[in-house]
Amino acid sequence: MIEIDGAAGEGGGQILRSALALSMCTGQPFAMLRIRAGRARPGLMRQHLACVHAAAAICGAQVQGAELNSQALHFTPGPVRAGEYRFVIASAGSCTLLLQTLWPALMLADGESRLALVGGTHNPAAPPFHFLERSYAPLLRRLGAPCELQLRRLGFYPAGGGEISAVLGPAGDRLQPFDLEERGALVANRAECFAPGLPRSVAQRELDRLGQALGWAGEQLQVAAVRQNEGPGNALLVTLDHEHLSEVFTQFGRKGISAENVAHDLACEVRRYQARQAALGAHLADQWALPLALAVWRSGHGASYTCTELTPHAHSNFAVIAQFLPVRFSTAAAGDGWRVSLAPA
Ligand code: ATP
Repeated sequence: MIEIDGAAGEGGGQILRSALALSMCTGQPFAMLRIRAGRARPGLMRQHLACVHAAAAICGAQVQGAELNSQALHFTPGPVRAGEYRFVIASAGSCTLLLQTLWPALMLADGESRLALVGGTHNPAAPPFHFLERSYAPLLRRLGAPCELQLRRLGFYPAGGGEISAVLGPAGDRLQPFDLEERGALVANRAECFAPGLPRSVAQRELDRLGQALGWAGEQLQVAAVRQNEGPGNALLVTLDHEHLSEVFTQFGRKGISAENVAHDLACEVRRYQARQAALGAHLADQWALPLALAVWRSGHGASYTCTELTPHAHSNFAVIAQFLPVRFSTAAAGDGWRVSLAPA
C-alpha cells in the first residue's frame, strides 16, 4: 500500500488525481491522508469526488473515504476496462481534469475507449479544453497514444453544462518517450475570445486590446462562434504553434475586471513565454511529467524536456509519480529555464 501525504508540496487536488491515475496504471493501491491540506477548504470537494468515482467506475476499485470533505482515502484498483463511459460533474467541476485522471489508465488498457464528460470545459485553475486539444493531446499522440478530442458545448463556472468527448485508442507496447528540448520556430499564432451569453462588444474590446499589446491584427484576432445553450462565460485564449509543440494561454473575464485588464494580463503571460527559449510553459511542464514517466517506465528509455518555469505543482507531481513508478526525476537550470530529466530507476 503506497502512502501519500496530500499536504506535501502544493497540497492541492493534482496530488490526488495523479495518485488515482498511477494507481490504475500500475495496479498498486494507495492510502492518502491530509487530502488538499494546502487549500483553504481542505478535503474532497465535488470535482475531486467526481474523479474518485469515475476512476472507481473504470476499474471496479474498492474505495473507502469517498465522501464530501473527506481528508482520507483508500483506493484499491481493479483491472481497467476500456469501453464507453459518460460522467457528469455537478457544479461546473472541470471535465478536463477528470479526463486527465482517466486518460493514462485508459491509454494503457487493451481496447479503445469513448468518453463523454459533462461539466466545466473552461475553468480557472484548470487546463481549458483548447489547451488539452492543442498542447497536450498532440504530445500524447507523439508518445504513441492515439486520441481524438471534441468540444461539444462550452461550459463555464458556475453553471457548467459543457461537454467534451474523447476517443482514446490503446497505446499497447508503442509508448516511446522522446526529448523535448526546443520549441522550434514559430509557425502560427492567434487569439480567440469565447464569450457566449455576453455582448459581442466585450469580446471585441478584449481582442482589440490584446492585438495592440502583441502587435496582432485581422485574422489573428477571432471572436469564436457560439452554440445554443452555452454560457455565460468569457475566456480569452492565445495559441502559439511552434514547430515542436503548441502552447495555449488563457485568461478569464469576470465581473469587476475590465476587458482591457483581461487582455493586459494575457499579453503579459504570452510575452513572458516569448521572452524565454525553453520548450514547455509552466502548466504543460507539470502535466507532461506523468505521461512521459509512463513511457519511460514502459520502454526502459530515459527522456528530458526543458521548461520556462518549475512550479510547486510540478515538484509535487514529480514526487507522487516517483512513489508509483520506478523512474528518477532530476532537474537542473538550463539557459533561461529548467531541464527535467527522467531515467528508469
Ligand atoms: P485545488 O488545488 O483546489 O485542489 P485543483 O483540484 O483544481 O485545485 P490543482 O492541484 O491546483 O488542482 O491543479 C490544477 C492543474 O491545472 C495543474 O496541472 C495546472 O497546471 C493546471 N492549470 C491551471 N491553469 C491552467 C491553464 N491556464 N492552462 C493549462 N493548465 C492549467
